[in-house]
This record gives sequence, C-alpha cells and structure tokens, in this order.
Amino acid sequence: MQILDGKALSKKIETRIASEVTTLRKATGRVPGLAVILVGQDPASAAYVGMKKKACDRVGFYSVTHEMPEDISQDAIENTITMMNTNPNIDGILIQLPLPKQIDTTKLLELVAPEKDVDGFHPYNVGRLTTGLEGFVPCTPLGVMELLHAYDIDVQGKDVVVVGASNIVGKPMASLLLNANATVTITHIHTKDLAAYTRKADIVLVGAGVINLITANMVKEGAIVIDIGINRNSDGKLVGDVDFDNVAPKTSYITPVPGGVGPMTIAMLLQNTLRAATAHAKEV
Ligand code: NAD
Repeated sequence: MQILDGKALSKKIETRIASEVTTLRKATGRVPGLAVILVGQDPASAAYVGMKKKACDRVGFYSVTHEMPEDISQDAIENTITMMNTNPNIDGILIQLPLPKQIDTTKLLELVAPEKDVDGFHPYNVGRLTTGLEGFVPCTPLGVMELLHAYDIDVQGKDVVVVGASNIVGKPMASLLLNANATVTITHIHTKDLAAYTRKADIVLVGAGVINLITANMVKEGAIVIDIGINRNSDGKLVGDVDFDNVAPKTSYITPVPGGVGPMTIAMLLQNTLRAATAHAKEV
C-alpha cells in the first residue's frame, strides 16, 4: 500500500507557481489577483477561505475577501461580482459555497465572467468540461487527477466508481475520468446497493460527506481509493469518508485525510488563477 501524498505534491506545485508569479511580475508588472466572496459566519467556510488566502500569500498573489453578512441581499452580491468582473487587478472570482437560503446561487455563478471562473462552476465551463474542451475545471476533481498523474496512475480502461454526484465534486470528477477513457459509474444516496459497485472497482473515489461510508468489505484487494470527504468526528478530528485503518491494508494506493485531496484542491485554485492571470496578461 502506498499513500498518495497530496500535501507533498501541493507544496511542489506551490513552489512552481511562486516562481511563475515572479516571472509574470517581472514581465508585466502585475501579479495574479483572486477575489473571494464569503457570506455569513459558517466556521467551515471561514476556515476554507482563510486557507485559500494564506495560500495566495505564500505564492505572491494579490487577494481580497469580500465578507458579507448572512442577511445580505442578492443585489448586493451581484453588484460585487459585476465590479470584480471588470476590475483589471482581479483574475479569478470565487464564491464560497454554500450561500444562505435567500440567495439564488445559480444566478450568481452564472454572473461570474467565465474567464474569471477559477472554480469552474459557470455552466459555460461545465459544458466545456463535459464536451472535453479546455476551460476551467473545478479544483477538487482537478486536484485528484493531478495526484493520480503524479503517481503514474493511468485511469484509461479502468473500472472506476465515483460515490457522490454533486455539481462541485462527483459530476465533474466523473467527466474528467470519462475524458481520460475510464469506465465510470456514478453512485449516490439513492443507489440501491453501493457495495455491489465499489467491490468491482479498480478505483473508488468517494465524496459524500459520510464518516466510514467505505468499509474494508466494500473494496477489492489492490484497489485504489481516493477519499474526498471532509468530516469532523465526535472527537473533533478531521476524517474522510473511508474507514482508513481497515481499508488501507487492502489497497494499492490510498489518500489520507487530512493531507490527501484537500491540499490539492487549494493548489489547483492557485493554478487556475495563475492560468487566468497569464491569459489576461496576453490580452493587455
Ligand atoms: P453534497 O452534499 O453536495 O453531495 C454529497 C453527495 O454524496 C450527493 O450526491 C449524495 O447523493 C451522496 N451521498 C450522500 N450520502 C450518501 C450515501 N450514504 N451513499 C452514497 N452516496 C451518498 O456534498 P459535496 O459538496 O459534494 O461534498 C462531499 C464531501 O466532499 C463533503 O465531505 C465535503 O466536505 C467534501 N469536499 C471536500 C473537498 C476537498 O477539498 N477535499 C472539496 C469539496 C468538498
């Protein structure tokens, strides 16, 4: 069994990005800029935004967080997005999800300029991903693909089961795997017999948000297991969706939580923002 070390790989990616930022600054006089919209007081959202801001600082990006109260109006957020769309210092716009109930999330995601949509949630970029065209790809599934690639794991022809079918994790994950010629099955809360699918899989990727959803008897010997879930257990410890201690010995490769997919997500956000900035620099 080998650990897929997302923490180590993300550090390498950050080092490369920081050096590319220096090159961009010398050539154009500007650095990549990321704007984050954070609504309300959700501690998990605030923690994620804090980690993203620190990562921006480490690689030399400019970043700004627009913190808004829980009862903010739709119009106020829309105005901020419209301003960021035209702000030349901003290359990437990220709306931290989930948003409060009164907010129409889809409308906001559709308002972000597709060329600044570094989270890859705009339907334009979603469509480009499903048709196999270049565009911005959601950071978490993109990070998983980078991690597999770094360990020379080729998914072509592999039987792959994705557990979880959300727009930000499961669906784009499945599209990327399909584009890389894997045979993909997507499962979710309504799947009748989850274990029947996972047991046959060469690769199991799980992002459901359920502690210990994947147990040792659900995974075949030698499988690759990617744990995208982030949960807090009753001791307050960060854990994934996989019963790691019992599943790991059966696998050929497995991601830990923390230190697996999480750091890769942030590295991909930086990579997408640098890409947006490089494209903008060429337009100027
Ligand atoms: P979500 O609630 O939007 O979607 C969860 C998906 O899992 C749904 O499709 C649901 O049908 C499925 N599901 C739930 N319970 C299930 C069960 N018992 N059996 C089979 N399928 C089940 O959540 P999300 O935003 O996609 O996030 C999923 C998990 O991934 C969460 O733990 C979240 O914290 C984590 N996450 C991690 C990162 C990262 O950087 N590592 C990024 C985003 C989300």
